[in-house]
Amino acid sequence: MINENAYTLGTKRSCIRELFEYGRARAAVVGADKVYDYSLGNPSIPAPAEVNETVAALLQDTDPLALHGYTSAVGDLATRQAIADDLNARYNANAKPGDFFITCGAAPGLCAVFGALSVPNAEILAVAPFFPEYRPFAESAGFAFRMVAPDIPDFQINLEALEEAITANTQAVIINSPNNPSGTVYSRETLTALGAILTEKSEKFRHPIYIISDEPYRELSYDGTEVPFIPGIYKNTVVCYSYSKSLSLPGERIGYVYVPASAQDAPALLAAVAGSARRMGHVCAPSLWQKVIARCTHLRPDLISYDKNRRTLYDGLVNAGYKVAKPAGAFYLFVEAPGGDANAFSEKAKAKDLLVVPGDDFGCPGYFRLCYCVSYRQIVESLPIFAELIK
Ligand code: PLP
Repeated sequence: MINENAYTLGTKRSCIRELFEYGRARAAVVGADKVYDYSLGNPSIPAPAEVNETVAALLQDTDPLALHGYTSAVGDLATRQAIADDLNARYNANAKPGDFFITCGAAPGLCAVFGALSVPNAEILAVAPFFPEYRPFAESAGFAFRMVAPDIPDFQINLEALEEAITANTQAVIINSPNNPSGTVYSRETLTALGAILTEKSEKFRHPIYIISDEPYRELSYDGTEVPFIPGIYKNTVVCYSYSKSLSLPGERIGYVYVPASAQDAPALLAAVAGSARRMGHVCAPSLWQKVIARCTHLRPDLISYDKNRRTLYDGLVNAGYKVAKPAGAFYLFVEAPGGDANAFSEKAKAKDLLVVPGDDFGCPGYFRLCYCVSYRQIVESLPIFAELIK
């Protein structure tokens, strides 16, 4: 017999993947330059040159056994030290190497944290709009997954809805800023208010309600927008970080979980993260990439081309009559679907080889997502199609 839940997850593609595969098939028929694919968040700026130079240097100057061998499950000490040093320099975090668990990206980090916090009857709140994979990750860990209604039209946090959704079983709230799919960056004010609510509710229910802060886009913000360091605002925060987007390394699978020492039960929580990762077959994160990160924590993405795309697409859509949340971070635009039905709009767009993702799976029907880490040409050539579609 086969596990039904696993079979369903393995055979039913996400809406994003479905569109992406459709786009590839269409490209084979009409040509790649005639398909305007805004479906998938694959970075379109290369990794900084220093990353490749570091790989080359490591291949030259490191003992191959050490370079390619297993590391300890939590990750190389030098890698954890470098990450701690970077967070301390930037945010005065007071982080130590012992606060980190190095992962194969944000996704397994999230799964490890979910597994660590899942207790009988546990509930997790996800602030809409949210990354759709949170649901299968959390439910597989045993959580009841609850959505917090979106804060329309600004896509900060709907604090009233959040407060109402918290129960005695709420173990954690998962947030993601800069946000996929809205591109919103949660303000310090929003996060401070969130922290106050969680502090009060944690006292009321006599157990910590953690923030799980999913931060693959932390370094992707525009116009000087501040991306606040959340453990500095709310102490019971667990950070899941990834280099997939900040260094354009999504295929290399490298990131970390950070449990600040100031978080309640931090040592036990970090041990449970390690145990939960072990249950999923984690042995260690890729050794070569751990060593690259140990030398590259100071690197930041060059956002010029994303920013140009962001401005051109946003201005073009607004001029055409679309209502768009002004994105301050990540590489997504979230757009109100003309007529209110994002699925119908996505189908109409698809007929013109324009691929946009309806917001339903993000917990926000009536909107669609555009991932603008695409060529500038695609943006310029697709704007007339958007203009035609809104007529
Ligand atoms: N969280 C969010 C919000 C994402 O957008 C993504 C990937 O697109 C992930 C997590 C997973 O990132 P990783 O490649 O580090 O597993």
